[in-house]
Amino acid sequence: MKGELSVKNLARHFKLRQRGTLFARTKILKAVDGLTFNVAPGEMLGIVGESGSGKSTTARLLLGHIPSTSGEVTFGGEKIGAVPNLAWRRMRRRMQMIYQDPLGALDPRITVARQIEEPLVVHFPELTPDARKARVRAVMGDVGLSFHHGERFPHELSGGQRQRVIIARALVMEPELLVCDEPVSALDVSVQAQVLNVFQDIRERNSFTGVFISHDLKVVRQIADKVAVMYLGRIVEIGRPDEVLHQPLHPYSRALVSAVPRKGRPARERIILSGDPPNPVDVPSGCPFHTRCPEVRPVCRALRPELISDAGRTVACHLINDPSFAGVPVTKGEAA
Ligand code: SF4
Repeated sequence: MKGELSVKNLARHFKLRQRGTLFARTKILKAVDGLTFNVAPGEMLGIVGESGSGKSTTARLLLGHIPSTSGEVTFGGEKIGAVPNLAWRRMRRRMQMIYQDPLGALDPRITVARQIEEPLVVHFPELTPDARKARVRAVMGDVGLSFHHGERFPHELSGGQRQRVIIARALVMEPELLVCDEPVSALDVSVQAQVLNVFQDIRERNSFTGVFISHDLKVVRQIADKVAVMYLGRIVEIGRPDEVLHQPLHPYSRALVSAVPRKGRPARERIILSGDPPNPVDVPSGCPFHTRCPEVRPVCRALRPELISDAGRTVACHLINDPSFAGVPVTKGEAA
């Protein structure tokens, strides 16, 4: 379907050679290990999880920036990364990414207006210089930047303004798919709120399918229509924000949600996980979360739970059908 992002059994494994012994050994790091999900046209999927859960690798796989080990990603029915060069170039201009580090993504020697215009020169050679400049001015206005900002160099702008430039540079291409990897995590809380407001305004005016990656559940709640929780390269729960962030079922989602500071929530309600996240080159057998799970049962050590849907909820946990394990609201009233 036009504008639909579809991901099936997507995996990306890296081979790591370990030296220091007589014979070098190879270990496999499963950064992403079998993701399956759909994002409907115009929908925004939020992906949350600790660092090392595979969120950023997922972002790069979705746009074909790195090849997958197995599985496939299609956008609007076309397979990403598997079309001839010319068709791929046309497809690339419909898909844009917003990065975490705006300073690193901008050229310090070029004015920001020229940097916003650059992708138009490459991907829309049919546009006249006047038409390009009009499009740049319009998109700068959309993200709250004035004409004068366009004449400046990146270091002359604040962090929030630089992130607006990055958003403008992605939007000037009028993308149908926008993937954002921690786009506001480097900003102060007040600037974060301004940039998120810009984002929401833009979403109301433009229709694009999106994936928004963040470790911050509050940010995701504000922006996403659907939320996926990742742990060690897999999705452990996916659903509507009011379900996943207010009544999480998976024990890992419950711990994440309980860790968000909220006025009026007693400290005793926080779920403290035992131990550190496992080394991703040495993922525990059975359920990968069993070494830290407060609900662990014998079956969890032997069998890996699949992501299954039951009664409208989609969770990878053996206890989803256990009557003793009902989804108890982690928060009362406002979610996360
Ligand atoms: Fe915890 Fe077992 Fe569920 Fe894994 S399958 S999350 S270890 S209860």
